[in-house]
Amino acid sequence: MNVRSFAFLLISAFLIAQTPEISKSIYDKALISNEAYEMLDDLTLNVGHRLSGSENFTKAMAWGVAQLKAKGFENVRIEKVMSPRWVRGKESIQLISPRPINLTMLGVGMSVGTPKEGITAEVVIVDSFEHLDKLGEQVKNKIVLFDVPFVTYDKSVSYRSSGASRAAQYGAMACLVRSAGSSNSNTPHTGTLSYDPRWPKIPAAALSLEHAALLRRMSEANQKVIVRLNMEAEQLSDVEEGNVIGEIMGSKNPKEIIVLSGHLDSWDVGQGAQDDGAGCVIAIGAASLLKQMNIVPERTIRVILFANEENGVAGGRSYRDQNKLKLTKHIALLESDSGNGRITGFTLDLPGRPARQRGVNLYDNGNLKADPGLLYRFQSLAKFQEVSGAKTFTLGMSGVDVSPMVEAGSVGIGASHDMSKYFDVHHTEADTFDKIIKGDLQHNVGSVAILAYTLSFVSTRLQ
Ligand SMILES: [Zn+2]
Repeated sequence: MNVRSFAFLLISAFLIAQTPEISKSIYDKALISNEAYEMLDDLTLNVGHRLSGSENFTKAMAWGVAQLKAKGFENVRIEKVMSPRWVRGKESIQLISPRPINLTMLGVGMSVGTPKEGITAEVVIVDSFEHLDKLGEQVKNKIVLFDVPFVTYDKSVSYRSSGASRAAQYGAMACLVRSAGSSNSNTPHTGTLSYDPRWPKIPAAALSLEHAALLRRMSEANQKVIVRLNMEAEQLSDVEEGNVIGEIMGSKNPKEIIVLSGHLDSWDVGQGAQDDGAGCVIAIGAASLLKQMNIVPERTIRVILFANEENGVAGGRSYRDQNKLKLTKHIALLESDSGNGRITGFTLDLPGRPARQRGVNLYDNGNLKADPGLLYRFQSLAKFQEVSGAKTFTLGMSGVDVSPMVEAGSVGIGASHDMSKYFDVHHTEADTFDKIIKGDLQHNVGSVAILAYTLSFVSTRLQ
């Protein structure tokens, strides 16, 4: 054990002795506070969805600034971000053969549009990238439909993000994907794609699960499936917007920073309630709760509402670039970006940790047992969460917006939410405020507030 770990151990022992009452009072207060719920109600009612580059995002920034000022945060500001501006325009897809049906679709974000008259072509059903490679030139001048069942988001999302270029490689005219979600309510799912510069950019759209299944059944019944896809989508010039930031200044070490964050942008459908309005109000609500309780942190707690998570991560990268010299003063950067399911614990995203250790529960991991300093750090953080129950600490991915800072050497922390319902609504018209459970939001604010409080005075680094 090195000296730093030993110092942490002593401090931990001291804190463990005195913290349960403080944690309990923070958590009790969170469970009776309506503040975060009311903020999210206001954001989703009066701003709605807010894709980066849109007028709604400008409104959302003003909303964020007003909230932080009203709650007494200091140094409230907007830090410049240049974000892409993608506009969906009108879009539709009609089944032409074997019989006319208006299909349910959502264009994939950052996709190019179709010519004015649309693209009319036969649909080829594809089960996987390997299947596509086998078909090869057989998809030329056709529309590829990747009809791959939703297993996990990580597995399914690759068809949405790189399916268009993979299909374009063999001369396909457009790409359809079965939505990367678990909803069976005919609600298609959008999200971003990235084009491989080696191949032509072709339009891409997601079909609802039901309509992807219908096209497959028709195809398997040897019916010729022809559709016409119309999309006005286009990419305009980048626009200047920003990350919204506010602080509670630390009393002892004000230059040392604990970041609490979510992303303020959302897709241009639904209301961005779970993704990621919830994360924004958890961050603001947790810091505000400590303020209301007159708990003065020793380090500065900085709330960041990031711009442009969904289609570019320009907000996270800009923050890294603009704070390059101060990153060593960032003790940890927490992000909540997995909806409003109950937080069950936290992931620690430690720079330089090998990928094989990610997602592994600390207590079962032999490698970590051989690292008593790290084990103690986890255990002492978990100890503070006895009252909330959010005490499963694992190594893992933190959040998309804070990842650029982790890559630059900072410690990221992700809130681990119950995600069992998340992919029913994620990136769809169904991501709305009516599905926000107030008690879960109160719990989430409470557990993040306890963690922020803990991190604001632990006397060593986490890595
Ligand atoms: Zn998100």
